[in-house]
Amino acid sequence: MDVTCPICKKDLETVEHAILRCVSAKAVWAKWIDCPIRILDCSLDVTDLALNLMNQGTQSDLEKFFGVAWSIWYNRNQVVNEDCGAVAEHIWGLAIRLIEDFKEANSQIIKPKGTKDRAWKPPPKDVYLINVDGAIPAMEGNSGIEVIIRDWNNQVVAALSMPLSGRFAVEETEAIAMEQGIVLAKELGLNQIILEGDSMQTVQAICSKDVWGVAGHIIHGILQGMNGFNSAEARYICRNSNKIAHELAQQAKRSGEECKWIGVVPENLANLCRLEGI
Ligand SMILES: [Zn+2]
Repeated sequence: MDVTCPICKKDLETVEHAILRCVSAKAVWAKWIDCPIRILDCSLDVTDLALNLMNQGTQSDLEKFFGVAWSIWYNRNQVVNEDCGAVAEHIWGLAIRLIEDFKEANSQIIKPKGTKDRAWKPPPKDVYLINVDGAIPAMEGNSGIEVIIRDWNNQVVAALSMPLSGRFAVEETEAIAMEQGIVLAKELGLNQIILEGDSMQTVQAICSKDVWGVAGHIIHGILQGMNGFNSAEARYICRNSNKIAHELAQQAKRSGEECKWIGVVPENLANLCRLEGI
């Protein structure tokens, strides 16, 4: 078996030779102008070089290192098996494209920064968190709303599941859910509340005191109601983190029955909430 390097035909072909020391490999590494460590003219093996890069470079340097090493190895196999190889420029270019494609594919899986969904979190001490949601019928039937009030220990203090008679616009349904959250909080005599819903439009209308939309009259009522608390704010939570309120609103819509729990809530609801608080 021929163990001489198939490219330079001079030295013994080891992994280090093929990837780092062969003249053809060196020509590719020479393209890395801003490399934070010396790859050419050093006697380290591939693993030690990677470790050095981890210490002295960035994550992106390390990605480049592996990308270029792979590209050199791929080219070496092309020479051996297909009898065709590329010049250093192309090998380098292939590595860079490969890394960019990989990052692009990854960024589509991981959501871009700034849009990360916030998970449900208990409120600060002495503050009650009111999660609300509205559901509208797909075809015919009732709209429904759900209110669930939890304390800072993630204990459910009250819940309300209410079908609405008649048809309402989505904005109205979401606003009615907020309004009912306030009504229930008043009934319980709470002083500090946070209203949380997954309708950006409704939350924005409340925060900007905009009473001119479809649900303007309801928003107006919500704003008046909020004045009756020592502190009250409305904020948005993504639908995924508002799952329990969402599910229960769907149920209210389907069952057509109003249910209200104060103090003691059904075991399955309490369990669901415990799970969400983890
Ligand atoms: Zn060689």
